[in-house]
Amino acid sequence: MSSRITSVEVSEELLVLFAPLSGVVYPLERVPDPVFAEKLVGDGASIDPIDGTLCAPCAGEITHLHPASHALTLCAQGVEIMMHIGIDTVALKGAGFSPRVKVGDKVQPGTPLIDFDLDQVGSNAKSLLTQIVLTNGNSGRIVERAAGSVKVGVDALLKVAVFRDAAESAASSGGTVTSDAILVPNATGLHARPSAVLASVAKSFQSEVRLQLGDRFANARSITSLMGLDVGCGDKVVLVARGADAKEAVAKLSELIAAGLGDEGHAPAPAPASATMAKIAEPPPHPHSNDPNLLFGVAASPGLAVGTAFQLRREEITVDEAGRGVEHEQQLLASAIDKARGQLEGLRAQLHWEADPAKAAIFAAHAELLDDPDFLEIANSTMAKGKSAAFAWKSAVTFHAERLASMRNELLAQRANDVRDVGLRVLELLTGTTRLPPTYPEGTVLIAEDLTPSDTTTMEGGSVVGFATVRGGATSHVAILARSLEIPAIAGVEPRALEIVSGTSIILDGGKGLLRLNPAPAEVEKMRERQTRSKAQRKEDMAQALAPAVTKDGKRVAVLANIGGLKDAQQVAELGGEGVGLLRSEFLFMDRTAAPSEDEQAESYTAILKAVGPNFPVIVRTLDVGGDKPLPYLPIPREDNPFLGERGIRVGLDRPEVLRTQIRALLRSASAGNLLIMFPMIATLEELREANGVLAEEAKALGLPTVRCGIMVEVPAVAVMAHTFAAEADFFSIGTNDLTQYTLAMDRGHPKLAPKVDALNPAVLRLIAQTVEGAHAHRRHAGVCGGVAGDPHAVPILVGIGIDELSVSLPAIPSVKAQIRHLSLTTCQDLARRALECATVAEVRALVPETED
Ligand code: PEP
Ligand code: MG
Repeated sequence: MSSRITSVEVSEELLVLFAPLSGVVYPLERVPDPVFAEKLVGDGASIDPIDGTLCAPCAGEITHLHPASHALTLCAQGVEIMMHIGIDTVALKGAGFSPRVKVGDKVQPGTPLIDFDLDQVGSNAKSLLTQIVLTNGNSGRIVERAAGSVKVGVDALLKVAVFRDAAESAASSGGTVTSDAILVPNATGLHARPSAVLASVAKSFQSEVRLQLGDRFANARSITSLMGLDVGCGDKVVLVARGADAKEAVAKLSELIAAGLGDEGHAPAPAPASATMAKIAEPPPHPHSNDPNLLFGVAASPGLAVGTAFQLRREEITVDEAGRGVEHEQQLLASAIDKARGQLEGLRAQLHWEADPAKAAIFAAHAELLDDPDFLEIANSTMAKGKSAAFAWKSAVTFHAERLASMRNELLAQRANDVRDVGLRVLELLTGTTRLPPTYPEGTVLIAEDLTPSDTTTMEGGSVVGFATVRGGATSHVAILARSLEIPAIAGVEPRALEIVSGTSIILDGGKGLLRLNPAPAEVEKMRERQTRSKAQRKEDMAQALAPAVTKDGKRVAVLANIGGLKDAQQVAELGGEGVGLLRSEFLFMDRTAAPSEDEQAESYTAILKAVGPNFPVIVRTLDVGGDKPLPYLPIPREDNPFLGERGIRVGLDRPEVLRTQIRALLRSASAGNLLIMFPMIATLEELREANGVLAEEAKALGLPTVRCGIMVEVPAVAVMAHTFAAEADFFSIGTNDLTQYTLAMDRGHPKLAPKVDALNPAVLRLIAQTVEGAHAHRRHAGVCGGVAGDPHAVPILVGIGIDELSVSLPAIPSVKAQIRHLSLTTCQDLARRALECATVAEVRALVPETED
């Protein structure tokens, strides 16, 4: 007995979808898969089939056939109809399915599309329910749906009123463009920032673009929708675009995704030692202790805090459910969102101005969330049902935050916190409540279920000496911000932390991820003494920071700074830095999706040169992208071995306009200070010659004098041939982070290999010694700017090898200088000789005694 559609709307744009299978019709809401039930893929219907051949519901073109053959998409009059046989059938990997069409085939109503074995699929899948869904919702609206039983090819299942412009745009675009499968390279998948980059570039195209993972889709313009796909590292995704510029959109976005969309792991590290960063990136172990006074968590920001616990409880903001007219509520929401956007733009601009792109990008991603179509759609539909703006907004925030929090990807789950933070900002504006910075007692160790990035901006006064959160992990934005504020922190701490009474005496070890309650007075005393000693040492080092680093027997070693932008540059002189040994220029514009112009670059370099002052050198390294450093505006096509592919100077030589623009900007700003240029990742003499040629040509064309130009020594080939390279480069700076990974053939970011990727490996030390020898034979300077330059174990060895210059992270400058003043060159030379004879890293490290912190 079938219940047919009774009233037929006569319309030229009416598209009738006949039942593609015989069976009983169910509403999508009853499908046991939230992706369909919540209509995240789109609106439509479901059929419980009684026959095993899926047929075309109308005439159209096959635009996508899933490799597992359980689903396909048909496009008709601009409407995309996805048909998905069964639930969780992707896991069957094609077993039981036989496609009868391929992509590009034109089909007629009733054409058989996929045969499937009802018994085989039915007994191996969660359900046989087959979904027929319109995946591009803005192309048409379902005006009628069948109920009860339907017969294949006879009964109309759905009637769709096609929007005229959808059909027109389909006609003008020539159909749907689908990308090849793209491998997602981001170590932590598509979390908030890569999603924000993708969404913002997707918005620059007219076409509707969707990202597909398996049989799920996300609107590429929507950050929450993208994050909701839960794309992990190594997942293969496909872009599907429809519209006038679909081809361009797919080309550009594919490149961007393959290049990593400028991920956070590539932001300037607080300390460049790769081992430290890799440790931070390890997944949280979720341990727990049996000692009532000891709580375990995850190390999120290193350092020791001794203080008293302060529980931060956030009051739930209560809202009125009923609205006062849809239009009124919509206006309220729009104006609150506008104000929130203004606040976030202010925060972002301030951080950008302070040249802190990693932090700026966090708030830029928050601002993007405010424009998210998915977010707004839920809020709008709730307001349309007569609810207040505050109620609607709160529901949308809760929905998205909970969806993210339940994700398998740890990092995405942590992004729920960003959604809550943005949500709260708007909710406060809507309800007139304020998140005034709480006044914390001196020596506060803050304990909270979770903290938001906005909360951390209220902690800069110095009263908060540490914090611990039950949620979150070492990679959460809060942890990143804590590290940049130099506040010790632990995350993912055992939930019983929330029961700690405010005022309890507490020691927080941010390096080990430990929280010790009620420590014995002797222990507190010991910790305080340790803190006092290291504070006093730091003070002493600071007091002497401006004095040169000269060994007891008169050898002077220059100590310079590694910097990432203007804010760092402003601190170089006061910390005793004798210039900048490495400006990682790729960090200057990394929160941008469009390349900076020559003028913008010149302005930025000039400001940095002026901040450092005329007496100190500033070595600017030309863009070092590729490998672990993607730049959103300079996508590198996907490579199997990116560290061995297009990176560093290879990118500049391959895209000469990028290199030439940067060199012109540098030459134009040179008169503002003492500028030197350095090329990254040089491997062959031809590369050096070509790059030197570009510099000479641009200087000539501008009628400006050229500047001294050196190279990074990061490739063993260069170290081995140092004599030859020294004849054509003005100076060497040894990038031990890369030199170590290439010498040992171990990825510098690999969490398991991290402890072995040690620049004190005797093989690396020998290459450093060869480099110094080659440089000195040609009266060139040889410096070290890799993370090992700031390692107290390494400093005496490097000095003994004859290194002229150490370029270290800003906080390390005073202590490295102080350490050198306590050394004698002859002892260092003896130490270096013994280190170069060692067989293992452990033997080398054993030569230099342990330091306290
Ligand atoms: C290095 O490789 O040691 C280096 C300083 O460069 P980066 O860490 O930026 O690759
Ligand atoms: Mg390097």
